[in-house]
Formats: sequence, structure tokens, C-alpha cells
Amino acid sequence: MANWRALGAHAPQAECGAVVKADAYGCGLSAVAPALALAGCRTFFVAHLSEGIFARKLLPEAAIYVLNGLPPGAGAAFAEHALRPVLGDREELAEWAVLSDGRLPAALHVDTGMNRLGLSVPDALALAGDPVIGKAGIDLVMSHLVSAEIPADPLNARQAADFSRLRAAFPQARASLANSSGTCLADDTRHDLLRPGYSLFGGNPEPGRPNPMRPVVRLEATILQVRDVEAGATCGYNARWTAPSPRRLATLSLGYADGYPRAASGRGHALVGGVPCPILGLISMDLIILDVTDASDARRGGTATLIGDGLDIDTVGANAGTIGYEILTGLGSRYVRNYVE
Ligand SMILES: *Cc1c(COP(=O)(O)O)cnc(C)c1O
Repeated sequence: MANWRALGAHAPQAECGAVVKADAYGCGLSAVAPALALAGCRTFFVAHLSEGIFARKLLPEAAIYVLNGLPPGAGAAFAEHALRPVLGDREELAEWAVLSDGRLPAALHVDTGMNRLGLSVPDALALAGDPVIGKAGIDLVMSHLVSAEIPADPLNARQAADFSRLRAAFPQARASLANSSGTCLADDTRHDLLRPGYSLFGGNPEPGRPNPMRPVVRLEATILQVRDVEAGATCGYNARWTAPSPRRLATLSLGYADGYPRAASGRGHALVGGVPCPILGLISMDLIILDVTDASDARRGGTATLIGDGLDIDTVGANAGTIGYEILTGLGSRYVRNYVE
């Protein structure tokens, strides 16, 4: 919640919403949503109708927008659960306008560069005076930044300029452009409503710079066995690692079936007693082997930290050749999850 407040402080004149799609980025919507609501968050975004229905049970009062829009024929379900579709083309607009008749709110998604979802800028501008906008209850105009995490990318300024023209054409609606990284960009990206997701959960919105967010997720695994091996010994499937000298290995009770990426095989590390211990050989479905030669604390029944104590999700993502977003959203269902506040 400290992260939500810190992001909101970037733009005191704007409201800070929360993107909680994908089970709150793998952190667990049923724990995250009520905590954010208690902290004062009033506007939430999910990706799917099913996520919206689940979120509505947890958030009876909040405005909940569904980013992936209105699937054909789904209008009644949106209305029943008081969900707001983010409408991205004329068909969706027309379908919702019939159902809403100006009474049920929705957002308008304009594509300013992603070529993914939303009306084109000229299309949206052409619709600005059209009665369908009022009939569809458009109370929010939004777009999404392509490269917000790369502040020097000229696309940011171009999208911000297009979006400023759009918002002027829809004076009755609030405007929202900034995701986590967008919140940290120039003033002209923030508008009325911030839409951070990743940074709420501890991800760094400014890659390459010190992470201003508080870490949220901690991942620990139990050490099942510790063994000493001779130089020349190998470990794991296909014997991908060979001991260069006598080493001490520890086997962890966690593998790729838990969402720890197999792509981090031979590249990532974990901490044992604060000491970085390299991951050796191929990560198994349920097990990871560490080199704990330098970690005098390593013992059966002890723990290794895979995320936490300065080993952040951005680093874990980079070690697996991916981004922290994928690490978070991939966190498995087999863990024992403890929520602390
Ligand atoms: C996922 C998403 C966000 C949140 O992005 P973060 O980078 O996680 O802050 C905001 N807006 C849209 C449209 C999204 O799809």
C-alpha cells in the first residue's frame, strides 16, 4: 500500500487507480484488492470479465474497468456486476450504447501507437461529437504507452501529444494514459487517473535506475539436502554442470512447476544466509540445485531466498532472459502464501 501511496504522490491532482489483472500480478487478488480499497483506492482495472466478476465480490463500491473490452453478447454480465468495459471499436461502442443508454459507464480505448486494442486517433476524434459517446456512458478516455520504461524514446512525446488532443475532444470524460513507468515520466503523461500495476507489486518503473518502490514479494524455498561433491562430478538432468573443484551443493524444494523459470538454469542465483549461491545445471520441475560452498549457513531444513533481501523481481527476470512482470505473474499455486502488512 506504501507503493500505491508513493505513486499517487507523483501526481497529487490525479487519482491513483490500480491495475490488478492476472490475479493482482500473481500476488493474489483476494488479499490485494481489499487492502488497496482500505488504503483509499477507488478505481481498479482487470483484463477479463471473469476477473472483473471476482473483483466485484471483493470490492462492492469500487469502479472496475475491464481492459480487454466487451466480448460479443457479454453486455448483460457487465451490467449485472456493474463492470465498466473499456470499449475499443465501433461495434463494441454500439453494442454497449444500446444496453447502457447513457446510464452504465464505460471507458473508450484509443490506440496511440501500440496497434493492439482501441480506436485509431482519427477514428476517435471523428466520434467526439457523436451521440453514441453519451449513450455508451463514456466517462473515461484512455490510451497505453508503448515504451514508457524508456524515457528517451520519442514515441512517448508523440503519444502524449496525440492523447492531449484526444482528451480535449472528450471534455466530459476523465483521461488516463500512464501505467507504472508512465507515472514517472513527464507531467503531460499523468492526466486525471493513473493506472499503475507492476510498480504496486515492487517492480521497478524506471529500469536502470535505483528502484524507488518497496519490495512486495518474497519467495523462499526449503533446503532438502546438502551434499559434498568431488571435482568432475556433475549435477541435474543431462549433466549440464561439472564441478570445477570440490563443491558443496544444496537441493531446494522448488522448481519450474512453481513458476520459477527454467530459463534461469545456470544463470540465476539464490541467497542462503545472505550469500549469493549460483543455480547449477538445469532447473527441474520440483527441484533446484545451488552451489552453497560459500554459504556456511546452508543446512537441511534451512531456507534459500529466491526473491527478496535485495534480490528483486527485475533481477530474477533478467537472469531468466525475461522481465519481472513474467516472474510475478508466473508465481505458482503450490506455494504456501503468507500475507504480512
Ligand atoms: C497492464 C496495463 C497497465 C499497467 O501497466 P504496468 O506497467 O504494470 O503498470 C496499464 N494499462 C493497461 C492498458 C494495461 O494493459
